Amino acid sequence: MLLTRLLNACHHFPGFVYEGARLCEATQSIEIDVRPRKGSKPVCSCCNQPARGYDSLTERRFEFIPVWGFAVFLLYTMRRVDCRDCGVKVEALPWANGKHTLTRAYMIFLAQWARKLSWKETAQSFRTSWEKVFNAVEWVVDWGLAHRELGTIRAFGVDEIQYGRGHKYLTLVYQIEAGCTRLLWVGQERTKESFAKFFAMIGEQVCEKVEFVCSDMWKPYL
Ligand SMILES: [Zn+2]
Repeated sequence: MLLTRLLNACHHFPGFVYEGARLCEATQSIEIDVRPRKGSKPVCSCCNQPARGYDSLTERRFEFIPVWGFAVFLLYTMRRVDCRDCGVKVEALPWANGKHTLTRAYMIFLAQWARKLSWKETAQSFRTSWEKVFNAVEWVVDWGLAHRELGTIRAFGVDEIQYGRGHKYLTLVYQIEAGCTRLLWVGQERTKESFAKFFAMIGEQVCEKVEFVCSDMWKPYL
C-alpha cells in the first residue's frame, strides 16, 4: 500500500494533496510532499476566511507520527494570502499551527503517551526531545482550557498537595459526581486567597448550583 494512500485514509484535508513519499535512509526518516489541490483557495490565518493567494514562502517541515522507527515529515511550501480584511498574511494550515513544527496529530499522539509515561520516557520512546513533548502537552492543555465546558457543578472536593522540598502546597479542586469526576482547578498555596480564585474562575452562576463541598478541617478552606 502506498504511504500517501494510508495518509489519505487517516489524515486527509480537503484542499490539500499528498504528492509522494520517499525514504531518506541517511536520516532514518520518511518525507512526504504536500501541495495545495489545484483551484483550492488558501485560508487567511488571521480571520480563517478563504482569500486570494499572494505569494509562496520557503518549504517547511512538519513532524508527523513516526512509523516503524522512522521519523515522518510533511513537506509543504506555505502560501501567503492577500486578505480583504487583514492584508497580506500567511495561510492557515489544517494540520499545524504556524508556530509549531509538530503536526497537531503528532502533538495529540505525544500528549496521550505523556499521560501514561513520564515526559522523559515519552521523548525517549519516540526519539524526540523533552521540549517537544512539553510543547505538545502545553498545546493540548491550552486547547482543552479554551474549549472547556464547566456545565453544572453540584459537588466538588478541595484538598492540598505538598510538592518540592519544604512547605510548598497547591490547592486542588475536583468535581466529584457519579457521572463526572475531574480535576477542575489547581491553585498555588493553600490559603483563603488562593481558594477564592477558584470561585472567581467558575463564576457566580456556576457557584449558585453547588450543593455539596467536601473538605478536610483546614481552616482557610472552611
Ligand atoms: Zn483575513
